[in-house]
Amino acid sequence: MDNCIFCKIASGQIPSKKVHEDEDLIAFHDINPAAPVHVLIVPKQHIPTLADCTEQHSALLGKMMLLAPRLAQQLGCGYEADGGDNGSGGFKTLFNTGPDGGQEVYHLHLHVIGGPRPWRGQR
Ligand code: AMP
Ligand code: ZN
Repeated sequence: MDNCIFCKIASGQIPSKKVHEDEDLIAFHDINPAAPVHVLIVPKQHIPTLADCTEQHSALLGKMMLLAPRLAQQLGCGYEADGGDNGSGGFKTLFNTGPDGGQEVYHLHLHVIGGPRPWRGQR
């Protein structure tokens, strides 16, 4: 898509601080991080929002979701399970959809947000 900032990042036209790339996805640090770790997982294919996804995107969405904990681990904010609710670490995963969802960039992306608290505006 012409004029889509994440398409330009995916094609290398605009630089990013990349943390992952494969044939379907790219992941890079958010330019305005909300927490010590804040990366975006972005499909290379231009899909405007989560609401535009259909059955045909199931595998791609699954791949995005499964990459989140791997990247969180790699970036030092993985969740260390202890078999109960007293684990440590952890992260937030977030899709913003549409104007009331706070979406600013209309190319599908999954936020992965974590690291030691406090975070920006959050305890
Ligand atoms: P959203 O509100 O879910 O659409 O989030 C868009 C995110 O993209 C925001 O957190 C921005 O800080 C981030 N962002 C916008 N432009 C860039 C860029 N060139 N490189 C990295 N992150 C960006
Ligand atoms: Zn795009």
